[in-house]
Amino acid sequence: MRSVIVIGGGISGLAAAWQLRGQADVTVLESHAKVGGKLRTGTVAGITVDEGAESLMALRPEAVELAAAVGLGEALCDPAKAPTTIWTNGALRPLPAGHVMGVPTDPSALIGTGLLSPEGVARVAAEETLPATPLTEDCSVTEYLGGRFGQEAVDRLIEPMLGGVYAGLAERLSLRAAMPRIAALAEQGTPLLPALRRMRAAGAPRSGAVAVQGVVGGTGRFPAAVAEACGARILTGTTARSLQQVGDGRWRVQAMTGDGALTMEADAVILALPAFAAAELLRPHSPLAEAELSSIPHASTAVITMAFSRAQAHFLPQGNGFLVPPVDGHTLKAASFLSNKWSWLHDSAPETFVLRASIGRIGEDALLGRPDRHLVRSAIAELHHAVGPMGEPLATRVTRWDRGLPQYGVGHRERVARIREAAGKLPGIALCGAAYEGVGVAACVATGRAAAKQVLAQP
Ligand SMILES: Cc1cc2nc3c(=O)[nH]c(=O)nc-3n(C[C@H](O)[C@H](O)[C@H](O)COP(=O)(O)OP(=O)(O)OC[C@H]3O[C@@H](n4cnc5c(N)ncnc54)[C@H](O)[C@@H]3O)c2cc1C
Repeated sequence: MRSVIVIGGGISGLAAAWQLRGQADVTVLESHAKVGGKLRTGTVAGITVDEGAESLMALRPEAVELAAAVGLGEALCDPAKAPTTIWTNGALRPLPAGHVMGVPTDPSALIGTGLLSPEGVARVAAEETLPATPLTEDCSVTEYLGGRFGQEAVDRLIEPMLGGVYAGLAERLSLRAAMPRIAALAEQGTPLLPALRRMRAAGAPRSGAVAVQGVVGGTGRFPAAVAEACGARILTGTTARSLQQVGDGRWRVQAMTGDGALTMEADAVILALPAFAAAELLRPHSPLAEAELSSIPHASTAVITMAFSRAQAHFLPQGNGFLVPPVDGHTLKAASFLSNKWSWLHDSAPETFVLRASIGRIGEDALLGRPDRHLVRSAIAELHHAVGPMGEPLATRVTRWDRGLPQYGVGHRERVARIREAAGKLPGIALCGAAYEGVGVAACVATGRAAAKQVLAQP
């Protein structure tokens, strides 16, 4: 049986290991004490919460299908129904239904929401009268969508969504890589509003379908379930330090463990790592892949989870949370009202109200350099401002995700093609993870499974 070493025990690497089950002898190397990477649970005031990803995309199948396959089908759960809400122009303002990543499909639904000025709404509505501007080469979200819908729509509708997913900025993110559905319409060269309306009419999710799902007990349970189901040998606390090609196309991995150095060999190696970590290991073998991987920027973020006593809180917010546009100058990027959003969490601690605030976009390293207590104070002050005076939390937990989210800059898809071409010249090496074709868990699962199929297909 072919032997495969998967380096990186996040969801991408574990999905690769799961895909290989029964077809290869698989070892997963993970530097942390537990598998999961950006999927993990922790506790605040004794309550289990997600510290990283809290939901799985349900409109594409990969993540929820894998969760069901590894025994979490019964645990998949829908969030409470609530509109996406933006904290802007001094209030929480629901985004009208029907938007695609913040791009509105019905400008008239924006009237009276306070999201945009009357001029801003008129500018959005004028999009369908503008001459077509077919997208022929990649450009930033701002360049294309600002040109079609106006800067105000980018600032207050689209940018907050991009902040929520990528911790990125519209002026830097690639339209093609960060908003592929919109880019595909833009390539057709027709005005976007009628094209979006047609797209929604043709492919609107069936009634009642939810965009995301969670896992009872936390989405952070998902990696351990995959690890258990995949049957691979999992070595945690083991950091791969170097890769060497040995005879017969095999690869040797030198790793460091708590007990000292470890050397292993296999027929194939899957690098399921953040781009900068994959770059390190590929440096001696492909300077081109190393350079391209190293040039992918990463945003750092912090998640601040807070538990409030329901009895003592002055005020508790409604809804599932809100997103924040940077143009308003706030520190917060988003807030998620976990006790409203996930019934399992509410039921696990009915006397407590748990929320999480997110801070940090690309370029906000100075903000994230502040000590935890400053981040907590800023988050509480802004939450009071946004939703009302909640009082002081019983407990807080700050989770920092240093270089946690890769940024898909202009030309990202071409960069990924160059990386994949360069890595393709190294037989037995495959790449997967959030750096390539999508940062969401579902996209990561897809890249992991594709990397596994790639190494199985190699002679
Ligand atoms: C705060 C936050 C919230 C998010 N929320 C959501 C969400 O709600 N929904 C969603 O779909 N997505 C969300 N995402 C994105 C998503 O969680 C990640 O993109 C995805 O989990 C990345 O998985 P991965 O396996 O590719 O990488 P990682 O999770 O980064 O896993 C890589 C693993 O490799 C290990 N590693 C690194 N170097 C080495 C080495 N040399 N040797 C051995 N091991 C090594 C790391 O320890 C890590 O465990 C969120 C991301 C963040 C940061």
